[in-house]
Amino acid sequence: MTRPDTDLHDLSLVALADQLRQRKVSALETAQHFLSRAKAHDALGAYLARDEDVTLAQARAADARLASGHAGALEGVPLAHKDIFVTRDFASTAGSRMLKGYRSPFDATVVARLAEQGAVTLGKLNCDEFAMGSSNENTAVVAVGHDKPEPVRNPWNLDHIPGGSSGASAVAVAARLMPASTGTDTGGSIRQPASFCGVTGIKPTYGRASRYGMIAFASSLDQAGPMARSAEDCAVLLSHMCGPDLDRDSTSLDLPREDFTRALGDSLKGLRIGVPKEFFGAGVSDAVRTTVDAALAQYEKLGAVRVPVSLPRTELSIPVYYIIAPAEASSNLSRFDGVKFGHRAAQYKDLADMYRKTRSEGFGAEVQRRIMIGTYVLSHGYYDAYYLQAQKIRRMLSDDFQQAFKDCDVIAGPVAPSVAWRIGEKSADPLANYLADIFTLPASLAGLPGMSVPAGFDAAGMPIGLQLIGNYLQESRLLNMAHQFQLATDFHTRKPQGIRA
Ligand code: GLN
Repeated sequence: MTRPDTDLHDLSLVALADQLRQRKVSALETAQHFLSRAKAHDALGAYLARDEDVTLAQARAADARLASGHAGALEGVPLAHKDIFVTRDFASTAGSRMLKGYRSPFDATVVARLAEQGAVTLGKLNCDEFAMGSSNENTAVVAVGHDKPEPVRNPWNLDHIPGGSSGASAVAVAARLMPASTGTDTGGSIRQPASFCGVTGIKPTYGRASRYGMIAFASSLDQAGPMARSAEDCAVLLSHMCGPDLDRDSTSLDLPREDFTRALGDSLKGLRIGVPKEFFGAGVSDAVRTTVDAALAQYEKLGAVRVPVSLPRTELSIPVYYIIAPAEASSNLSRFDGVKFGHRAAQYKDLADMYRKTRSEGFGAEVQRRIMIGTYVLSHGYYDAYYLQAQKIRRMLSDDFQQAFKDCDVIAGPVAPSVAWRIGEKSADPLANYLADIFTLPASLAGLPGMSVPAGFDAAGMPIGLQLIGNYLQESRLLNMAHQFQLATDFHTRKPQGIRA
């Protein structure tokens, strides 16, 4: 076979799929290339599990299908999944000691759907424990090539966090360890690490992607989505990840599968971009402000118009989310009791002691904090004061968006108030971490689609993303908006300094 002109790891997902389809490169050769690249970059801490035999067997099967003319749309394309998706062929831990070494008897729907299209799984990607975090420092499982649990590193500066909770999913794409990956977003976990690592990521409308086999954090918020270098690659992957799964996820939307690439190429002439004033208040760094402003100016050149809008309850999204998400988490995580699966304390006196020891040993500090908050706000006497109140404000936040969408077609603003911070900088202060979620939480609480598009860098060379938020089911429009921006700019093609070519 003739080698493609560019290094395999520099190819986009679409280009690589094309090379595979034309048989310019084999799936086996591709898998081998990315496995050895993974090994060379294990210092980043991106992988929690890899198994060469499994990956190479999948690649050989893909080659057989390519040879027989029965190839899927992603035949031979190598990907890896956030370790929150359960997989039969690799351990699934959610970054927790509680699930160390756990093997699921089935694949998550998202994983199965990508495999049906011929995607080859390179392994499982590091994340904050049970997807709780904004920095990928809360990980309790030892990454491949490491000997103790360590924070995942940002390839743009190895002393900085990559964002979280899908930190490694962003790192892997930025460092060219794979053309694309999967992540999940409960309160920003696709958009924020995408912004911090200079990659593109989209969280679809709540209900688009099945939650079946996604280890649950906060069920009314959790959504899966793709991360890749370009919007076009995200559109392709998202099309294969989504679709109804009514028998297995009761919140799955009963809508036919969609081709999210269909609007790529539409003109942005006359598109009204709503810019919420609350997204530019105190606390937003100058670099973020300037970069977002320049991105909006670029959109004006492409024919869009800026419209001032207001999302008056933006600040309340933090207390509301940090009541609702822990409440749901405390309920979801009650299944980890040392009986059904996962960790169980070695010695205990009686049942209560077994629960106590198992859960104290199995869960990390942030998870225990959330279980306590969640249990508290759901308990008798506090339910009305906190949980019910938060639900009411959640509805108002959604209504605010609908009000804003009367004047605009999409909303744009920063993803986060700052660039990626240094490892350890906020780890002693959970509240400082929570505050950094302020601009991603509103779309999550409303169940709206949101994405992060590479829009520039600060003076130290750290990436900054632009957030785009659409009304329900407007993913195609968001993806085309990002695509048009990427046709006019090259931020998404830049390579991190911290990685070997
Ligand atoms: N940073 C938020 C949290 O810690 C969001 C996490 C997520 O989206 N999974 O809960």
